[in-house]
Amino acid sequence: MTGPAGVPAGGASDGPGEADWAAAVAAIRGLPADGRVLLICHVNPDGDALGSMLGFALGLRRLGVRRLQATFPGPPEVPEPFRGMPGLDLLVSEADADPEPDLVVCFDAAGASRLGGLADRLTGPGPALVLDHHASNTGFGDVNLVDPAAAATSVVAEELLARLGVPLDAGIAECLYVALTTDTGSFRFEATTPAVHLMAARLLATGIRPGDISRRIFDSRPFGAVRLFGEVLGRARLEPAAAAGHGLVWTYATQDDLARHEQRPYVLEALIDSVRCTAEADVSCVVKQTGAAEWAVSMRSKGAVDVSRVAVALGGGGHRFAAGFTGRGTAEDVVNSIRAVLPGALIGDGTS
Ligand code: 5GP
Ligand code: MN
Repeated sequence: MTGPAGVPAGGASDGPGEADWAAAVAAIRGLPADGRVLLICHVNPDGDALGSMLGFALGLRRLGVRRLQATFPGPPEVPEPFRGMPGLDLLVSEADADPEPDLVVCFDAAGASRLGGLADRLTGPGPALVLDHHASNTGFGDVNLVDPAAAATSVVAEELLARLGVPLDAGIAECLYVALTTDTGSFRFEATTPAVHLMAARLLATGIRPGDISRRIFDSRPFGAVRLFGEVLGRARLEPAAAAGHGLVWTYATQDDLARHEQRPYVLEALIDSVRCTAEADVSCVVKQTGAAEWAVSMRSKGAVDVSRVAVALGGGGHRFAAGFTGRGTAEDVVNSIRAVLPGALIGDGTS
């Protein structure tokens, strides 16, 4: 694949090249007067998806773009922890999203399938710009800014805003900070490079309050969710022999569990963090029911297993140490399918 003027496009493995950045800047600068921009992030959005999208949207607004919509596929409900984020006034439901925008910008989605019913906007009249950091990104945009070395999609968003000459303000910074802390586990994961801390310093310099933001996003949940977590963690199972002896720990949560505790599905997103701390297992997994025989699966690894390979083998995707997919059947069926694929996803066995 080549980029503009026959310059090789930045492959997903080495990040965007200068030609890709230039094409992205040109796509935005070339918007017609009163041009309409539709920003889309992945289904079931997390802090990086929402934060990079809203932060970039606020940046475009500062640039003078007035006709802006931000959206994601599926139910338009914003999880409670994100309801104080700047830029939410730009959010519209999938049903209200512009059918023929002059420019589409996608965030944190590794493939078009992560955009659900909004994927048809990729083939509309305007170009599609993709900002992402998944190594598995399929390059589904007309311009792809995909940097697998970036800790979060917001790293790519900040760079593009800088190249557009948009200065950071507190609103943009708060969104990008939510994104950066989400994907680095609040600066705990391996992805926490010096560049990440330098970006965090630039964001904090706008005057945002990290304590307040972190409490709201990560350390606050309804009491019903606390009790639900207790129940779901109580049924976790440890399988020391799985993954060639590296160990697997897993649990599941049903829609009935949510109903009994009167909780919304998004509260389960934080559950994996309580499971993955199990010292005896390299791989952790939470299987969350989304339909009669359908489950959203979250997987994490501490380094012995490439869980993105497990996820891709089962129809999903993600990163080496954090990945997911949609499972079918019973929770047991889903875990059986994972167990079967684990031995082929060991890191350092010559196949990775
Ligand atoms: P989480 O477990 O936090 O939902 O997701 C972890 C990582 O896996 C994220 O990078 C997310 O984008 C990816 N991921 C989760 N579920 C899916 C899925 O169903 N399909 C794909 N392609 N990626 C997923
Ligand atoms: Mn991300």
